[in-house]
Amino acid sequence: MSYAKALCCRKCGREYPIQPLTLCNFCLSPLEVSYDYKAMARGLSREKLEKGLLSMWRYRDMLPVESEEVDIGTGFTPLVKADNLGRELGLDQLYIKNDCLNPTYSFKDRPVSVAVTKAREFGFDTIACASTGNLAASVAAHAAKANIKAYVFVPSNVEPGKLVGIAIYKPILIKVEGSYDDVNRLCAKLGQRYNWGFININFRPYYAEGSKTLGYEVAEQLGWRAPDCVVYPAGSGLSFTRVWKSLDELSMLGLIKPVNTHMYLTQAAGSSPIVNAFQAGTLHVHPVEPDTIAKSIAIGNPADGYFALKVIRESGGSACAVTDEEAISGIKLLAQAEGIFAEATGGVVIAGLKKLVSSGKIKRNELTVAFITGAGPKTQEIVSDIVQPFTVQPNLESFEEVLGV
Ligand SMILES: [Zn+2]
Repeated sequence: MSYAKALCCRKCGREYPIQPLTLCNFCLSPLEVSYDYKAMARGLSREKLEKGLLSMWRYRDMLPVESEEVDIGTGFTPLVKADNLGRELGLDQLYIKNDCLNPTYSFKDRPVSVAVTKAREFGFDTIACASTGNLAASVAAHAAKANIKAYVFVPSNVEPGKLVGIAIYKPILIKVEGSYDDVNRLCAKLGQRYNWGFININFRPYYAEGSKTLGYEVAEQLGWRAPDCVVYPAGSGLSFTRVWKSLDELSMLGLIKPVNTHMYLTQAAGSSPIVNAFQAGTLHVHPVEPDTIAKSIAIGNPADGYFALKVIRESGGSACAVTDEEAISGIKLLAQAEGIFAEATGGVVIAGLKKLVSSGKIKRNELTVAFITGAGPKTQEIVSDIVQPFTVQPNLESFEEVLGV
């Protein structure tokens, strides 16, 4: 059963019945799912959760769904102790949450699995999304699994490797001549005209909840405790706020001790409206024109920027931006230290982590989790300079001559 009781306005607190609705009718602020935490606490225990499925759906009771889940095998991805990278950066307890290892190779499978389940539950026969690439792949894969129609919209500059990873699931794929923010504006208009389940628009409150499973997993994988520091990338800022919410919920439910986690947000310097606002000491985000290789987080007008900034403040965290060059170095460093090949967004996280440690914000002894949310092979062209093989004839002499051994 679900303990979700209402949609609640994040600013004015007005409540609405569970339905496909994203904004408060009174103040136009985003809605979020609220739960009966007292009943949830009675129904949950560490032991019960530990016996659950080895997927994100082991936390089903903490998600807002009533019906059978649309699941393609998402979640319970590895939390890797990153000793080599920790040594390099000066951290004694560094972990990587490797969320590349989801079915469509990004964390988006988590929010999408919840949103598509909910769309089917509400009787929608068509779903859609505005995406920088990873979300479209996930929506298309879940639509295939659920046997429903999907329209997916991406900006025209989406990486070619991502297009194949979307088209393979046979959605109706539309490239929009413009930026992600243009795609998003078009989809908002389409959402008013057609009765489609826009996964990250009119299903946004449900979609958002799926990202909580990242935080639940990390806490469980650490032996039921919250990390001291979280380093997380931000596009819209939504999933950053949900990782925080997930830790807060676990503590409220008595499953972990009170949370003292510092939340650190990272962005690419070419698209860093949230970091800019943080550095200016304001909660008001000024939109920018994105220009970065980290396209998964190239969102110039972040819908949840305000809330992400509040989380940084509340948790005593910070925010930092890194250049594309630093992000590429971050991708290489992670791969060569830990054997994990991340997309540019992961490079932003690792380069950001490096800055946060060297500036003294994250201390050597703090248990730190860096979240890698998307896989490198989709966008391998950005690091293709790394390919410098030796070329030999198929005989020993040639091998020894060329390698000089
Ligand atoms: Zn409101």
